[in-house]
Amino acid sequence: MFKKVLVANRGEIAVRIIRACKVLGIETVAIYSTADREALHVQLATEAVCVGGPQAKDSYLNIQNILSAATLSGCDAIHPGFGFLSENSKFARLVEECGITFIGPTPEIIDIMGNKSKARETMMANDVPTVPGSKALISNVEEGMKEAESIGYPVLIKAANGGGGKGMRVAYAPEEFENAFHMATSEAKANFGDEDVYLEKFVANPKHIEFQIIGDNHGNYIHLYERDCSIQRNHQKVIEEAPCRALSNEVRERMAADSIKAARAINYNNVGTIEFIVDADENYYFIEMNTRIQVEHPITEMITGIDIIKEQIRVASGHVLSIKQEDVKINGYAIECRINAEDPFNGFRPSAGTIDTLVLPGGPGIRVDSAIYQDYSVPPFYDSMMAKLIVHGKNRLECIRKMRGALEELIIDGVTTNIELHYFIMHNLDYVQGKFDTGFIAGFLKEMEEHEQFIQRA
Ligand code: ADP
Repeated sequence: MFKKVLVANRGEIAVRIIRACKVLGIETVAIYSTADREALHVQLATEAVCVGGPQAKDSYLNIQNILSAATLSGCDAIHPGFGFLSENSKFARLVEECGITFIGPTPEIIDIMGNKSKARETMMANDVPTVPGSKALISNVEEGMKEAESIGYPVLIKAANGGGGKGMRVAYAPEEFENAFHMATSEAKANFGDEDVYLEKFVANPKHIEFQIIGDNHGNYIHLYERDCSIQRNHQKVIEEAPCRALSNEVRERMAADSIKAARAINYNNVGTIEFIVDADENYYFIEMNTRIQVEHPITEMITGIDIIKEQIRVASGHVLSIKQEDVKINGYAIECRINAEDPFNGFRPSAGTIDTLVLPGGPGIRVDSAIYQDYSVPPFYDSMMAKLIVHGKNRLECIRKMRGALEELIIDGVTTNIELHYFIMHNLDYVQGKFDTGFIAGFLKEMEEHEQFIQRA
């Protein structure tokens, strides 16, 4: 087992990784930017090294400084968390060249799966259903329009190296194609450094269902069932739940088998997520694989009782998976609300400031993964997610009731948050009845707006 792990991240996921290391008896080195001197992960780690200025490119993306910090502090492994360098194969390669273990899959696997177009090709070659779309990258408008015509409108133009819902544009008809193409390529260039895009059929309001898998270095694979991440805004997840109540057992087992097949096909050797979209008739299509731990992993931990990050570190250090597929059982239900510092009633503008009152909920089956504390100043430089509120209950309705209570107890004053938005969703009849897909939030916000206008007119 590793002796000392450098955590190349910040916020709640850095805290979560440090906690897992403590359970395994591993020392930790936190890295931080000059804006994060007072951050919780810095205080909880065994040691901490400042790696640069507030902008992520100067610190959390500063490969040279991070590698120096790991080498000088004598780390034998680096955990990248999610975001930042977690899916950067160049980083993973350099880590290994320094004689340090990268807690993630091999750089070759990151290269294949990090490029969504290549990932699609790999899945097609292994008979995993993919969304109908272009075989390869699209290099210009004319070629794209020809492909779109054969796929059939509406089509989605997607950045091959995209993530976080960026670099994705829908064209509903040929006359919209050129504009959508230019928007997608320029967003891809600005965010991911290249203009590589491909096409997929745009599936109207699907469900987003993903499978958690784990592979070790000895050819063993397990899946930990699925998460329903359909509650999204701008293609970004807001609420996740596990398992997915809308999925029949027959389709669940097929999707699980395909997820394992996909992992096996690429000799996958870490934790990963196979993402699918599912239409109203339960037809499912692979959309991408995330080769890292995900934000929403706790709901799977709650229903399976498995500490996924602990297992991730164990398999990275060469251990055989400690769990067999037949031992993975779903126990109850879990829901996660992402608590963001943003203003849902003002265009979701991010909010920064000092938390002057903090009250966290508690009780059986309530978990808060966060890096905030009383008097903590939320810096304006990073992602707006401040905390994850997770509940575990006997069934979905119990979880919804528990979540309502937890949201009532949760007080974060000093910054604007989306707590109220979550509270409204937990009381929405369609949501409570499980009638939702990826179009839910857009419709919900529109209704809220109309309601607001109605009140103002009255
Ligand atoms: P990212 O890597 O940016 O998160 P994904 O490929 O995972 O992008 O897609 C994010 C979300 O966008 C999905 O969860 C789904 O809601 C929507 N989406 C992606 N592909 C399609 C598609 N072909 N049709 C309809 N919606 C899609």
